[in-house]
Amino acid sequence: MIEYESLAQANRALMEELEAAASRVIRSGWYILGNEVSSFEAEFAAFAESKHCISVANGLDALILSIEALDLPTGSEIMVASNTYIATILAILRAGHKPVLVEPERETFNIDPERLPAALTRSTQAICVTHLFGKACRMTEIAAFASEHGLRVIEDCAQSHGARYDGKLTGTFGIAGCFSFYPTKNLGALGDAGAIVTDDDEFADRLRHMRNYGSKKKYENVYIGVNSRLDEMQAAFLRVKLRSLGQVTEHKRALADIYFANLPKWLAQPLRRPAEYDVFHIFGIRHPARDELRQWLLDNGVKTEIHYPIAPHRQKAMQGILSGDYPIADELHATELSLPISAGHSGDEIERVCSLLAALPEKLKLAA
Ligand SMILES: *Cc1c(COP(=O)(O)O)cnc(C)c1O
Repeated sequence: MIEYESLAQANRALMEELEAAASRVIRSGWYILGNEVSSFEAEFAAFAESKHCISVANGLDALILSIEALDLPTGSEIMVASNTYIATILAILRAGHKPVLVEPERETFNIDPERLPAALTRSTQAICVTHLFGKACRMTEIAAFASEHGLRVIEDCAQSHGARYDGKLTGTFGIAGCFSFYPTKNLGALGDAGAIVTDDDEFADRLRHMRNYGSKKKYENVYIGVNSRLDEMQAAFLRVKLRSLGQVTEHKRALADIYFANLPKWLAQPLRRPAEYDVFHIFGIRHPARDELRQWLLDNGVKTEIHYPIAPHRQKAMQGILSGDYPIADELHATELSLPISAGHSGDEIERVCSLLAALPEKLKLAA
C-alpha cells in the first residue's frame, strides 16, 4: 500500500534531535514565551524574509488576529476565494467582518485576479488570499489591484511555506503572512502552532500584545487580547524541523516533476507558471468521476485525499451567511483528488502511482 502520508515516519527521521529538544525544554523549567519561542521567531522571520515573526497558537488564530489588528470598521467586506479552506472564512467572520467570495481559476485553485473588480463595493476593505496547495496566487496583479483601491492584503500561507511568485516569498506581499504549523503542513509541529510575519513595526507590536491578553508588560493590558501563545515545546520542535524544510520542499518538487513527466496528458493536473515557485503542499488533479477514480486507486494500493469534499458556501455552518452561486468552487470540490506527495515518499512510489494512472480502465479515462 502507498499511504497518502505518514507523519510518524517523517518525524522518526528526526527522532534524536526532537528528543533532545523536548528534553532541553523540560529541563529548562520555562514553558511559555521563553528562549525557544524567541529563537524560533527570529529564525522563521529570517526564513520568511520578513522583519517580524509573531508566533501564535495555530493558523486560524494567526488569521483572526491579523484581521483584527487591521482595525477595520466592523462589518467591512473582505474578499476571499470561494474554494478556500474554511479557516480563512471563519477568521473573517470571527473578526467581525463580511466574507465576499470570489471564484478561483479552475487550473490553479487560486483566487482569480480578473474577478476582483466585480466583487468590489464601497465597503470592501481588504483581500484575504490563500496560496492553496502550496502554489502562490497571482500576487503582482492582486497587489496592484489592492493598492489602486486602498485595500489591505492578508495572506493565508498555511500551505505555502517557502512558495514564491515572481521571486518574492508568499507572506511578504501583503501587510501580514499567516502560517499554520499543523502537523501535516510542509513545516509541521507535533501539535498545534502558527505564526504571523510582517514588516510593519506597529502592526507587529499590536499582535505581540494581542496574542498575550493584550499585554506585553505583565499585568498591564493595552488591548482586548486573547491567549494564543506558541509554547516552548512546539517552538523547540519547529526549530528542529525548520532546518530541514528546504530539503522537504526540494523533495516534494522532485516528486512533482515525476508526476509531470509521467502522468497521462489528458488528466487535468496542476498548472505550472514560470513566475511560480510551487512548494506542492498538495498535488491536486481533477477528474469528473473523482470518487470512482479514488476507489479504483485504493483497490490498487494507493491512498489519496480530497481537498476538500464540501465547498464553504455548502457548509451547514454557513447557511444564511454565504449566499450566491459559486459554480467553479462546486466543480473543484466535486473533482479534486490529492495524490501522494510527502517527504516520506520515494520517487519509485510516485512512478508506481503514475503507471497505475496510465493504465486506467477505459471507463475512467475521462478528461475534466
Ligand atoms: C491548515 C490551514 C489553516 C488553519 O490552520 P490551523 O493551524 O489548523 O488553525 C488555515 N488556512 C489554510 C488554507 C489551511 O490549510
